[in-house]
Amino acid sequence: MSSTGSASSKRISLASGDEKTGLGNYFIANYPPFSFWKPDFIPEVVAALNKTSRPNTPLGLYVHIPFCRKRCKFCYFRVYTDKNAREIEEYLEHLLREVALYVGQPAVRGRPLNFVYFGGGTPSYLSARQLRDFIGELRRLMPWDHVKEATFECEPGTLQKPKLETLRELGITRLSLGVENFNDAILEENGRAHRSAEIFRAYEWAKELAFPQINIDLIAGMVGETWDNWRECVRQTLRLQPDSVTIYQMELPYNTEFSKAVRSGQALPLQLADWPTKRAWVDYAFRELLAAGYEISSGYTVVRDKNQVQFLYRDALWHGADLLGTGVASFGHIQGVHFQNHTEWDTYLQSLRSNQLPFYRAYRCEPLELCVREFVLQLKTGQVDLGYFRAKFHEDLGARFGEELAWLREMDYADLDDQRLTLTRAGLLQVDRLLPIFFLPHHRTNRYV
Ligand code: SF4
Repeated sequence: MSSTGSASSKRISLASGDEKTGLGNYFIANYPPFSFWKPDFIPEVVAALNKTSRPNTPLGLYVHIPFCRKRCKFCYFRVYTDKNAREIEEYLEHLLREVALYVGQPAVRGRPLNFVYFGGGTPSYLSARQLRDFIGELRRLMPWDHVKEATFECEPGTLQKPKLETLRELGITRLSLGVENFNDAILEENGRAHRSAEIFRAYEWAKELAFPQINIDLIAGMVGETWDNWRECVRQTLRLQPDSVTIYQMELPYNTEFSKAVRSGQALPLQLADWPTKRAWVDYAFRELLAAGYEISSGYTVVRDKNQVQFLYRDALWHGADLLGTGVASFGHIQGVHFQNHTEWDTYLQSLRSNQLPFYRAYRCEPLELCVREFVLQLKTGQVDLGYFRAKFHEDLGARFGEELAWLREMDYADLDDQRLTLTRAGLLQVDRLLPIFFLPHHRTNRYV
């Protein structure tokens, strides 16, 4: 793709013009970029927690379970593969202590919890007994009477039917299965712990137990992926008919095993697809799924029926909800302030032992930054209602981003009328590559993390 050629496109340049899959982050998870969040700003999050909350702001809880059976070679999350049962119990005790500290804060006290997300890591790494004890206590500390959605991420090989029964009984409404690929050789090559037989087994159990929503995660462009295999992955997905399918495009952030190999000059054992190929794979999957009756719900997700299948966690966060991010290295947001927890095991536990919330860094957003943040995040759905931003932030984004929006239209990445910006398929398939053009000038940097 070229980013030059016409009058309005002269000023626009994409951060990466290179279409090879190089080292670095592609996925935009938040705004302003994490590199602007600092330990010096922690008093801002403490102050935000000390103020009573704005009315009608939904409240969510994210719980990070950082344990995995094995480290995937493309993984950049804070995960541990070597913790014993005693250390896991210790971690869960400290997580509960963290939640208890939040419950006493003026910004949280008395507020109903609207959604919960167990992410990782591998939440399903925990045993049925650990889950029962931990989630039971969590629900005692923060009741789920108003929780409309409780998502739980699973690695298929860690699931047994009694564990799934426990999750269903505990109130999990949305099960997200980290399938990633259906080919055992590719799963092995990329360091995944599970195999395809475990996917099919776990999926059948989840269906039998009638979880309200089952999502399947896939990754387009795992090392060793081919067109033939990708078609087969899509065929298998269609055969299972999950309520939603989420497809990420493989990236190479700096601290993964694959990236370390590339940096030390070793060639990857198998080919890694370039970005146009990954986009073509996602496009193919979207087309097949749409033909089977699914609908696009974001640049990554299709759902069987938009009226029935919601993703409250995503939509609430992308519309400015508060999120208590708990667990080591977790990210949260409270009353306009971003924060991240300590990223090291010992430091995280030590803060909680001292009855301190374990903040590592924070960033207080200005009103315009909050507006741009929601715009950038909502653009990932492929549709943005500009009237929403006029009403909520008193910002005319059509005028503020006139040049950028004209460029998107010239490149056939978007259509625009007075009210609505709609990304074309070409725009949606590379939405994370386009989003930085909307960053405020002082946030345009190559360092995202
Ligand atoms: S299962 Fe997920 S969190 Fe665990 S190592 Fe693999 S990618 Fe990372």
